[in-house]
Amino acid sequence: MDVTKVIKQHLEMEQSFSGFALKGKAGTPEPSPSEGLGEPQQQEDNMADTEKVAELKKIAEEAGRCRKCELGSLRTNAVPGEGNPNARIMFVGEGPGADEDAQGRPFVGRAGQLLDKVITAMGLKRNDVFIGNILKCRPPENRDPRADEIINCLPYLQRQIEIINPEIIVALGAHAARTLLNTTKPIGQLRGQFHEYYAGLGSPPIKLMATYHTAYLLRNYSQENRKRVWEDMQKVLTELGLPIP
Ligand code: URA
Repeated sequence: MDVTKVIKQHLEMEQSFSGFALKGKAGTPEPSPSEGLGEPQQQEDNMADTEKVAELKKIAEEAGRCRKCELGSLRTNAVPGEGNPNARIMFVGEGPGADEDAQGRPFVGRAGQLLDKVITAMGLKRNDVFIGNILKCRPPENRDPRADEIINCLPYLQRQIEIINPEIIVALGAHAARTLLNTTKPIGQLRGQFHEYYAGLGSPPIKLMATYHTAYLLRNYSQENRKRVWEDMQKVLTELGLPIP
């Protein structure tokens, strides 16, 4: 996978997409269409974008070479994550499955197709958001991530979050939510509310919404569970000041 190409595509799409994406974070005035490339503000934005792309690429390359745990020698491809470097929402899952391992892209299997549906139902496109995982390599037989694997792998995600600096992180499932919130509470207790994720000393906390993982939803496809996830996503949209479709 050519990560630079994928990220560049996202940036190009962002430029032509006038809705959700993401030129300024809340409170930052957007440049008017008449402001040309030569304008200082525009130049600054572009430089920041270039830097973000470069940093995300560096992380993807490091993850691709990583041998900090045994998963590094078992993978077909690392799955660093992908999406809009200026995303307002970052979805974080557990770790790649077989399809993701084969393609080097996150959430491309059945759980990913359901995540795509959730994103579409929110009135968004996959290119508007960033999608990552706690683990960058697939655990054998999709077993749960082990603590040592999480400890070794988490810095990649932490750096991605710092670079993208989303307004909201959506933690998909217990492993993502517990890891990012440093808690052992069950997902049933964590979901449906905003929590705070601390990216680092001095950085303001990022709001984190925990919800069910789409793989869990597929296994437990009740109206009740779908409603819960949809309610969680409505809260995310409301928090961002976006319309609920
Ligand atoms: N499940 C995850 O947690 N992540 C993926 O990328 C795919 C399925």
